Amino acid sequence: MARRARLFVVSGPSGVGKGTLVSLLRERLPRLGLTVSATTREPRPGEKDGVSYHFLDDDEFERRVEAGEFLEWAWVHGHRYGTLRSEADRLLSEGRSVVLEIDVQGGMSVRAAHPDAVLVFIEPPSMEELERRLRGRGTEDEASVERRLANARSEMERAGEYDARVVNDDLERAVAELASVIERFETNGGPTNDVCDQARD
Ligand code: ADP
Ligand code: 5GP
Repeated sequence: MARRARLFVVSGPSGVGKGTLVSLLRERLPRLGLTVSATTREPRPGEKDGVSYHFLDDDEFERRVEAGEFLEWAWVHGHRYGTLRSEADRLLSEGRSVVLEIDVQGGMSVRAAHPDAVLVFIEPPSMEELERRLRGRGTEDEASVERRLANARSEMERAGEYDARVVNDDLERAVAELASVIERFETNGGPTNDVCDQARD
């Protein structure tokens, strides 16, 4: 069946496993394009500029906002994060679907700008497990963990507005489900057709 390059948003609370899932997704579906976001937060040990993020200072981020260079941007956990239009447009023009791994507010801005975008919400098996993962990653200080958990509660309330939801319980299972959601939306219109597909299964 014909495939259509589409814009996908993968959102969900910090620590749920979006980064882990998306990098495994890319191994399964190497044709997918991933954008490198810009942020004003400090690099973590091991993060490379231009690979993990484009690390910008506040003035440079603001200049690019003013110049209209962002497809979306948001304040997340006290810093600014955004997707550069140039990154997404380049990949889409190559006929590749694009996956944006961004926060919930960013997902909603993408939907407003691109009503055709497909929004996928990644859910934790429980809030306790989310906290365990966030702490287990060991990248945040206590204040940052608390802020991320508080944000997670309000982000989870938006899950119902997404086109698809995937619970990241077992990693391999969740990656397989995410890949199948992507392939389904690339090959047909979306939720209405999905119901037909399931009925045919
Ligand atoms: P996010 O990008 O959503 O902030 P990460 O991908 O950094 O989250 O994952 C947070 C932590 O949870 C990491 O230590 C990661 O190894 C772990 N993790 C991710 N998915 C799973 C899973 N399915 N089961 C257990 N641990 C997981
Ligand atoms: P982290 O600091 O852990 O790398 O990311 C924190 C949060 O910022 C995550 O929820 C992540 O999805 C979000 N984020 C990363 N890039 C972008 C982006 O380009 N736009 C928006 N809106 N959020 C982003």
